[in-house]
Amino acid sequence: MFRNVNFEDIFRDLFGNSDSIFKDFFKFDFGRDFFRREERGRNINVRMEIELEDVAFGTKKNLTYTRTKRCDYCNGTGAESPEDFKTCDLCKGTGEVKEVKRMGFSQFVRITSCPKCKGKGKIITKKCKYCNGNGKLREKSSVVVEIPKGIRDGVSLRYKEMGEYRGSYGDLYVTIRVKPHRFFKRDGNNVIYRAEISFPEAVLGTKIEVPTLYGNEMIKIPSGIQYNDEIKLRGKGLPRMGSFGKGDQIVKIVFRTPEKLSRREKELYRELLELHSS
Ligand SMILES: [Zn+2]
Ligand SMILES: [Zn+2]
Repeated sequence: MFRNVNFEDIFRDLFGNSDSIFKDFFKFDFGRDFFRREERGRNINVRMEIELEDVAFGTKKNLTYTRTKRCDYCNGTGAESPEDFKTCDLCKGTGEVKEVKRMGFSQFVRITSCPKCKGKGKIITKKCKYCNGNGKLREKSSVVVEIPKGIRDGVSLRYKEMGEYRGSYGDLYVTIRVKPHRFFKRDGNNVIYRAEISFPEAVLGTKIEVPTLYGNEMIKIPSGIQYNDEIKLRGKGLPRMGSFGKGDQIVKIVFRTPEKLSRREKELYRELLELHSS
């Protein structure tokens, strides 16, 4: 008796002969992907290396890459002309096939995408000569990547529909990596620069020239400066992204205790020592 139970018939009796109710039922039961998956091309992730100077001033860079694009000749259909199609004989043009399965006492109806026409309902009779019936081609693409002032390391910029094509376009993500700089270390909107001076300069004070992102600057080192003391150059750091003003350049003063001394230097240090102990 149970052997003859047919869910499709039961539903038909309950809800009338409506396809949508079946679809809703199966959607609920098996999840969204059970029916034809909405096709979308993959996203493309590209890494772009920039200099710290690019962060300071902002820049535009041309990015060229290869991706799958829709064939313009056949508008992605894969057919030589709009007449070069015939209705799929397996699914009769519906794009889906019903599979009836018995499981124990029950009988299930499963609706799947037609394997012959891949759910399209149509079969190409004459393939497009440019894409060989694929409807898509590997081609070079390019975008102008606009790098805003003050951009952070690791930020991804999104370019809508510049990704791979597969029915529709995915997106392109350009991840910005800031290369290490030969002089500066970044700390948020500040840049850190280590300036090495001599031991006597630290004791007596001096003037030195330091590089900044905006050209060289003379700075005054006061006498008696301590190791790792910081001198702040206001507004010589990086611009705040999407805002006003700039960070600072922090000049860290470093020096070494002299190791190799000339005879004369030794004499002078001995004199200093005697002066201190007396
Ligand atoms: Zn078919
Ligand atoms: Zn084509």
